[in-house]
Amino acid sequence: NPNNALNFSGGPGALPEVVLNQVQQAIINVPEAGLSILGISHRSDWFENVVRETENNIRTLLGLPSDYHILFLQGGATQQFSMVPMTMLRGKKHPAEYFDTGYWSRKVVTEAMREGPVRVIWSGEQHGYRRLPTDEELDFSPDAPYIHYVSNETVEGLQFNRILGRDDVPRVCDMSSDFLSKPCEADKFSLIYAHAQKNIGPAGVTIVLVRDSVVQNAPDNLPSFLDYRRQVESHSNFNTPPVFAIYVVLLVTRWLLNEVGGLENMTQINQQKAKLLYGLIDGSNDFYRPWGEAAFRSDMNVAFNLPTKDLEALFLNEATAAGFSGLGGHRAIGGVRASIYNALTLGAVEKLTGFMEDFRFKHH
Ligand code: PMP
Repeated sequence: NPNNALNFSGGPGALPEVVLNQVQQAIINVPEAGLSILGISHRSDWFENVVRETENNIRTLLGLPSDYHILFLQGGATQQFSMVPMTMLRGKKHPAEYFDTGYWSRKVVTEAMREGPVRVIWSGEQHGYRRLPTDEELDFSPDAPYIHYVSNETVEGLQFNRILGRDDVPRVCDMSSDFLSKPCEADKFSLIYAHAQKNIGPAGVTIVLVRDSVVQNAPDNLPSFLDYRRQVESHSNFNTPPVFAIYVVLLVTRWLLNEVGGLENMTQINQQKAKLLYGLIDGSNDFYRPWGEAAFRSDMNVAFNLPTKDLEALFLNEATAAGFSGLGGHRAIGGVRASIYNALTLGAVEKLTGFMEDFRFKHH
């Protein structure tokens, strides 16, 4: 394997080089604390400041109103699949409305059904999970306790570029694979969750933005760890939190604010990268075959196939040898997937498109 491969993996994703350098220093010694980041107490003033600044940075990046709490939790996005319906669905008569738009949606639906009534409002199954719904295909009930969808289906590479649902029904969204990659009108949602390991940090921490009214209406009998109220009261410090992961998220939010210059700039860069890749795919005379229909394709995960399985295997081997890591498609659908999260640079995407051009001329 070549050194310093470019990370096109579906996750954990690439992190900015400046952040990696700061992390390297922090492993040895965080200057303000005089200790390694791996040994700093979660009860220290230093860590309290880390949490406060990270929260403030996310608030600033998203323009998040003050009636939202920001939590740093463990258990990954997967724990939120259950924590959301435990909080918002238990004991309800009317079904919550869930979208079945891909691999991750299906996992969410399975967990929600354990907690209460669920209606799948739209499924991509009959379309082979190659597209998302249009507004004409959707009919939302005013009685649903909430709606849930995945803003970006990481496996299939399908992304919503609009907000779903109605303003009188709470919206809940799994933004794991596009959180802080673009502005998201967070104040239209009652609850947003996203793990860090795509765009904003390492695995180990999941960010939850939750409206105070949701927290106040949570049932009283939940296990403390799974009770948003207890997590809010303890300021994400209910038990030993992942200090290291939260610190890296802090560094990435500083990078987003100070070096990238905010989410408008970030989305422009991300769109430029996606356009370059899709442009090459669409201009390849059917050599590279995009997974998703054009209107729903993701700016984060570019999934595609080659004309044969053999060519796909050869492509992945040659790509790995050339220093492109993580291009294999998710095991659920195979093929190729180039994930181009925030910290994967335009230069890296240009290198990949160059490689893809060469590969096509050799093998078409
Ligand atoms: N939701 C989405 C959209 C994902 O892409 C993933 C994992 N890639 C998950 C949820 C599961 O996240 P975790 O492994 O943090 O539980």
